[in-house]
Amino acid sequence: MSIEKFSVEKVLSVHRWAHNLFSFTMTRPAHFKFTAGQFARIGLMVGDELVVRAYSVVSSPFDETLEFFSIVVPDGAFTSNLQHLKVGDELYLEKISYGYLTLARYQQPLPQDLWLLATGTGLAPFLSMLQDFETWNKYQQINLVYSVRTASELAYVDRIQEIAKLFGEGHSGFRFIPIITRDPNAALHDRLPVLIANGELEKAAGSELSPASSHVMLCGNPQMVEDTKEALKQRGLTMNRRGEGNIAVENYW
Ligand SMILES: Cc1cc2nc3c(=O)[nH]c(=O)nc-3n(C[C@H](O)[C@H](O)[C@H](O)COP(=O)(O)OP(=O)(O)OC[C@H]3O[C@@H](n4cnc5c(N)ncnc54)[C@H](O)[C@@H]3O)c2cc1C
Repeated sequence: MSIEKFSVEKVLSVHRWAHNLFSFTMTRPAHFKFTAGQFARIGLMVGDELVVRAYSVVSSPFDETLEFFSIVVPDGAFTSNLQHLKVGDELYLEKISYGYLTLARYQQPLPQDLWLLATGTGLAPFLSMLQDFETWNKYQQINLVYSVRTASELAYVDRIQEIAKLFGEGHSGFRFIPIITRDPNAALHDRLPVLIANGELEKAAGSELSPASSHVMLCGNPQMVEDTKEALKQRGLTMNRRGEGNIAVENYW
């Protein structure tokens, strides 16, 4: 990998949510442009090798710094090292951003209701979208659905409320719907495809998944993405291709 493709950035803050989850911010070079929903490629020197991984940007395209939300995979080549990150450390950032999980991809149906369905760190691109006023101006109803295994993995809950207050002021159609799959006492604890098939997700959102009006984005665990896609297709929703259709997805592995 050619090192000239990267700039060297400084870590500004690190926040630990759980033993296997943390967020960090770093300096943003002026040349690094992105649209809400896109991902960066971040590099870390491990010995004398540059290890690079894709990371969705959490921050808004208008922020002066870059924020990311990371899993720790115990034997992962990248995150087993990244988990020790400290303020002042250096990270490599590829100069360009990537990805098509952006609202600009939707032409038909016209924007009306937006469903953002995440597992775990798949929340990241949706936090960026929600920190863009354009998202709130475009959609009458926005449902952020965030599925985790245990309550301790529910990161960003206070930030989500703050973002909704700040960016969604005067907007009456926002619902935040957490799902905790290993807690039978949680209001919603089934997997997303089940909650779609049995109508519980729509009940919690107070709105319908509709081929005529819904834009649905899925991000995170590939098995969740695949199974949820199928559940949505059963309801008549279609994959978004060349601007048309309801469903857009991003797999993290
Ligand atoms: C487009 C894109 C955007 C991504 N954005 C993010 C992000 O914002 N935050 C983030 O933490 N990761 C993200 N990832 C995953 C990330 O690139 C790495 O896979 C992750 O950092 C683990 O790297 P690793 O080398 O430690 O393990 P890897 O060798 O890359 O992965 C090992 C295994 O760990 C599991 N795994 C990998 N990533 C995750 C994850 N995020 N959550 C749960 N299990 C996982 C999978 O089972 C995978 O097979 C993204 C991936 C893609 C393709």
